[in-house]
Amino acid sequence: MVDYCPICGKPVYFAERKRSLGRDYHPLCLKCQKCSRQLTAGQHAEHDEKPYCSHCYLMRFGARRRCTLSLSLSVAHTHTHTHTQS
Ligand SMILES: [Zn+2]
Ligand SMILES: [Zn+2]
Repeated sequence: MVDYCPICGKPVYFAERKRSLGRDYHPLCLKCQKCSRQLTAGQHAEHDEKPYCSHCYLMRFGARRRCTLSLSLSVAHTHTHTHTQS
């Protein structure tokens, strides 16, 4: 079975794949989509199915209200749930 790299769209063969957060990447494709820093499998942030280093992730997405990561999964999220303000 061949999986496809979510970054370049080409097949990722078993011998070369880097598995991280449930997806298979080419070793060279597993890098931050902003600063191109190489990422360690399982130790990076992810947004919109693309990998980011934690630094860029915080810079780009972390300044918002501290919702949990799962919120970013639904773009059409209507924010009807209540947040606990402290
Ligand atoms: Zn790739
Ligand atoms: Zn980065």
